[in-house]
Amino acid sequence: MLCISCLNQDLKNSEICVCGSKNLVKKRGRSYIFNGQAYSKKEWLAIMSELRAQRMYLFTGKEGKINPLYLQSKFLENIRIHTFIRLLLPACFFIFLSFFISLVLILKEKNYLKEIIIPTNTAVFGIFIAFFLLGLALINLKRIFINKIRVMARIRNKRIIYQQIKPSHFFEIMKEIGFDIRSKQ
Ligand SMILES: [Zn+2]
Repeated sequence: MLCISCLNQDLKNSEICVCGSKNLVKKRGRSYIFNGQAYSKKEWLAIMSELRAQRMYLFTGKEGKINPLYLQSKFLENIRIHTFIRLLLPACFFIFLSFFISLVLILKEKNYLKEIIIPTNTAVFGIFIAFFLLGLALINLKRIFINKIRVMARIRNKRIIYQQIKPSHFFEIMKEIGFDIRSKQ
């Protein structure tokens, strides 16, 4: 069990840490157990990434201020995981599919796939789809590497939503959860 206020890790199954905090978390498999309730990893990362969610789900005030280091690491984990799954992975998938379609069409054009019959209409459509997928992939890659867009999981009305955030918003959230940007540079 971990106290997310003082980061004391070897707590017994008590309800309160020696530091006075009630914000104690236990990890079980991929879930986080807090105050008798199990949260999925996604939910937990989302709660840790937003002050508003923390006020809704955790003990605040006298019962324990959450350690900024803990919040920072969970926020960055949230960003890393969801940017990967929701932007980078689709881009890779679109590129793969686009190359696969192109490869089939090229092999057919060179007469390597005699047993497959591709009508001209279908081939034209295939070329269109290949370019379209490549376009989607490039848009995603541009968003990640040029616009520095990141994806985070957030909690809205007790449900998880995924939001694309701009760098300015990213820094705002980091500041909100106690990130000292100057000391990190
Ligand atoms: Zn503590």
